[in-house]
Amino acid sequence: MKSIDEALGLVLDGLAPLDAERVPLAGAVGRVAAAPALSAVDLPPFDRSAMDGYAVRAADTAAGVPLRLVGGVAAGEVAAAALEPGTATRISTGAALPAGADAILRSEDATEAGGAVVPAGPVPDGRHVRYRGEDLRAGDVLAQPGSVLSLPRVSALASAGAGEVAVHRRPRVHLLVTGSELLPLGAPPEPGRIHESNGLMVRLLAGRAGASVTDHGIVGDDREATRAAIETGLAGDVLVVSGGVSVGPHDHVRPAFADCGVDELFWRVRIKPGKPLWFGRAGATLVFGLPGNPLSTIVCFCVFIAPALRRLAGERDARPALEPGRLAAPAEASDGRTTFLTAALRAGADGVLEATPTERQGSHMTGALGESDGFVVAPETAGPLPAGAAVDVLRLR
Ligand code: AMP
Ligand code: MG
Repeated sequence: MKSIDEALGLVLDGLAPLDAERVPLAGAVGRVAAAPALSAVDLPPFDRSAMDGYAVRAADTAAGVPLRLVGGVAAGEVAAAALEPGTATRISTGAALPAGADAILRSEDATEAGGAVVPAGPVPDGRHVRYRGEDLRAGDVLAQPGSVLSLPRVSALASAGAGEVAVHRRPRVHLLVTGSELLPLGAPPEPGRIHESNGLMVRLLAGRAGASVTDHGIVGDDREATRAAIETGLAGDVLVVSGGVSVGPHDHVRPAFADCGVDELFWRVRIKPGKPLWFGRAGATLVFGLPGNPLSTIVCFCVFIAPALRRLAGERDARPALEPGRLAAPAEASDGRTTFLTAALRAGADGVLEATPTERQGSHMTGALGESDGFVVAPETAGPLPAGAAVDVLRLR
């Protein structure tokens, strides 16, 4: 049986980002740059006013000395003529400076009377002027390859005239849920059957990890039906199969993987919940067999599949999204496996996330999951952890 680190190494090592595509900036937030994203223009693109007021020649300005008012230039306009000595022109915030002008006299520092404007005092050269290129130059790199296009980066790219960016393609996940007992979301109860939740979780978590999902629905516990569904599902970058990877007589997924030529890289990991996790490859397609317990599915997805999807989507160093935290009550791994305990998570007085394991624990404990904010990790080798111990937490929102 593999440790989590060994298993994660088999999933992530050598995983390369998917090929690039160009997408409109409007759809680029959260995607990963596949090439340097550049400023298309100098910013500002021209010398412009930072204030509402008057464009002037600084050398002409002195307290109480009138300047003849000539025309005006609003944002988006270009002055028809150069500013002559001894004159001023009205200018709006963001408007281009007329040729000959070299400073802005703010409205609040001047009075207007009889076709002239009178400064309250001299205006220094360059006052309230934003010069061409002082912010950015055309060709400046705003996002390096491999960086996530965050909201601030996308805002800067928009200002810098970029309409599209090169990003890594989204991973395509195919999803198959197995189990003859499973009822679709919200279906009326039936004897002997339970409602399925793993498919929903995989769709949500895969979406958060930047993937698109093709859902092949629920397949009953039948060897041939399972094989046929897996064969169809091997069409994307990743196939996720829920359930049926254990050793029961109705667990057909592992033999079906073999029938479909999927090579096993590991089966079973020292993780709780989630021990029966299966991973293999068919060509370039990553194939995960998730244990059917809803808590196992969530934990295994977050620990193994989400980082793989993020790497395919271009994040070079993606790892499981664990955060540092602190135990508020004692905890311990069980069965010699790194244990993910459902926990309430609250920021302590010092801002550190405090994790209180729920009273009930177990991969079948839906109620405990529902009252938790995620999981706290008790490592397999750590022994009993006292309250106050530093731990990793997996926060789920
Ligand atoms: P399995 O891994 O198929 O042996 O399933 C383990 C447990 O998880 C069984 O109690 C199943 O009924 C349950 N289970 C399997 N698949 C799902 C699912 N999609 N949603 C909720 N529970 C499931
Ligand atoms: Mg099953």
